[in-house]
Amino acid sequence: MPDPHRRELLGLAARGVLAGLTGAVLGRPGSRAFAAAASRTHFRALVIGSGFGGSVAALRLGRAGVDTLVVERGREWPTLPARPAFGSSTRITDTMFWFRRATRWPGMLPVPVAPAPGVMELSEERDLDIACGAAVGGGSVVYTGVTLAPPRRFFERLYPPGLPYDEFAGRWYPTVRAMLRAGPMPRDVYDSAPFTHSRLWDRQLANARMTTRPVDSTFDWQVVRRELAHAVPPSATIGESDFGCGNGAKRDLTRTYLPAALATGHVQLRALHEVRSVGRRRDGTYSVVVRRLAEDGAVLGTTEYTCEMLFLAAGTLNTNRLLVAAREEGRLPDLPETVGTGFGDNGDQGNLRSQPLVPIGPVQGSPCASTAFFPTEFGLPLRVENWVLSGFASLPVTATFAMTVDTDHRGTFRYDPSSRRVVLADWTREKSAAAARAALAFSSRVLEANPGSLPVTVNNLHPFTGHPVGGCVIGRSTDLAGRVKGCPGLYVVDGSLLPGNAGGANPSLTIAALAERALSDIVAAGG
Ligand SMILES: Cc1cc2nc3c(=O)[nH]c(=O)nc-3n(C[C@H](O)[C@H](O)[C@H](O)COP(=O)(O)OP(=O)(O)OC[C@H]3O[C@@H](n4cnc5c(N)ncnc54)[C@H](O)[C@@H]3O)c2cc1C
Repeated sequence: MPDPHRRELLGLAARGVLAGLTGAVLGRPGSRAFAAAASRTHFRALVIGSGFGGSVAALRLGRAGVDTLVVERGREWPTLPARPAFGSSTRITDTMFWFRRATRWPGMLPVPVAPAPGVMELSEERDLDIACGAAVGGGSVVYTGVTLAPPRRFFERLYPPGLPYDEFAGRWYPTVRAMLRAGPMPRDVYDSAPFTHSRLWDRQLANARMTTRPVDSTFDWQVVRRELAHAVPPSATIGESDFGCGNGAKRDLTRTYLPAALATGHVQLRALHEVRSVGRRRDGTYSVVVRRLAEDGAVLGTTEYTCEMLFLAAGTLNTNRLLVAAREEGRLPDLPETVGTGFGDNGDQGNLRSQPLVPIGPVQGSPCASTAFFPTEFGLPLRVENWVLSGFASLPVTATFAMTVDTDHRGTFRYDPSSRRVVLADWTREKSAAAARAALAFSSRVLEANPGSLPVTVNNLHPFTGHPVGGCVIGRSTDLAGRVKGCPGLYVVDGSLLPGNAGGANPSLTIAALAERALSDIVAAGG
């Protein structure tokens, strides 16, 4: 009988971009070394999740020679220019969503799909849809690539003085930017037909006397150029991004941090390994119960892993789910009561307008070109970015993605004993209202300055965030290096650390920077 666990690992070694390196860590498939490595269940460090926080942790632990396992619930997706790996709003596939029966996405009509381990989790919390990545590489596979630091003033308002902005600006942000190879859209790409909408967006804001500036992005501009030259099938230039770019147009973590982590020789990565519960054992080590999945979502079995150092990097939604359940079910009884509190939606808002008489071409490109920030003009400090809603990519519509610095509205993840689920218990539409008003005030100013343009209502009935942050807030539930208070050997290194808001920016750069700082401290202190 073939061992299904070994079969999964062989499958991983044969398919994905990280395959060669994973194989190198494990030894030759079929060899004793491989079998021994593949069947190990105890590691010094275990990292849950391979997104921004998890990838940084894996690299820094690996470089420090710490024997580390990364478990990731999602698949490792191949980059195959000849065949699109991912679905999109115009090519619906079962692999777009993490175990959903129908699509649910801004600008997309609900369509039945078969539940499968797809690339995007969309969780219907009360009065808020939360979206997050579910793949090797986490949110970097589905995100829009914007790599932006918050302005100093708002960072300092949100974080304790022990996290000085100068240290982030001088060290942690540049470290992450260099690893991700982030840079602005080159002029020739900006001037090309699929980015007509970006140039129009800039012009419309200029007409309203607003100043835009180019934004750093992790899109691979060489691949985008090859798309423009018709040398590879199009993806980024036809509005794909939210469900991945199968041709490698997005330089996600499977091309930066993760291969570097695996190349240390101290890190293993196991995809399609979904953590179901975490807890502390009597001997002080941590227990991590994992459900192993096949690519079609079938459950292959359950394995209990143990470790001395446990890093939670499952993203805000799932780190809170795992930790709050562990506390309430008595597996982590010493977890602070503050864990689960201080959640925020980053003040996210989508905003569209149409200019029916201004042609913008048949399709629009997804990478964001420009941004603007308004600290005082619209009630709440407001960041806007030029955006594409893929369902509208062929219509004369320009889209804005807006974020506000909202320091007031927060939510709590609570355990529901009847369903044994952790839910965002107290979010209400009122908590998104101030951000919506700010985005609307911005939009009205742009519409006034651009006669002939009209507001468009997104057919999204549900408040939505792709930037869930908080719940295990740094300095409150953890120390300034993500060590969970009262739980030696337990760390949080993902978006849950942010104080419910990224301070007028998209969160990924700050998540990775906080993780870099935390790991530097943890490695130096030996724990
Ligand atoms: C459509 C969209 C566009 C976005 N665009 C941008 C952008 O342009 N710029 C930006 O900065 N941010 C953007 N974001 C947000 C960004 O993706 C997230 O802030 C970031 O990925 C969060 O990093 P993280 O380390 O907290 O977790 P993630 O990157 O979400 O990684 C968590 C990982 O843990 C895995 N996981 C979860 N639960 C389990 C479990 N139980 N067992 C095992 N593994 C598990 C997940 O599958 C995932 O791979 C966007 C998000 C979306 C949805």
